[in-house]
Amino acid sequence: MRRACKAILGSLSDYLEGEASEQVCNKIEEHLKGCKMCQMHVDNMRLIITMYKRWRDVDIPRALSLRIEQVIANEIGRLSRDRKAGSRRARRRKK
Ligand SMILES: [Zn+2]
Repeated sequence: MRRACKAILGSLSDYLEGEASEQVCNKIEEHLKGCKMCQMHVDNMRLIITMYKRWRDVDIPRALSLRIEQVIANEIGRLSRDRKAGSRRARRRKK
């Protein structure tokens, strides 16, 4: 992963939650224009955050919400690892 990407990914959750400063937002958007990897990452994160927010509206026990956070973190890690492994092997589709 390039160093620029790492810096972007670090502030991505703030950005997606609308909590990043304007300066940071501009930096991220500028980077996304030229980086497909990060674009895909942002799309995935958006999706996950949307789902997660829906979950949060439901009154779920704290233990369960911690568990979900963990699963989401794992999933994000898995997605970026899968992508690194190359798309050639990604022939098998999930049902
Ligand atoms: Zn990038």
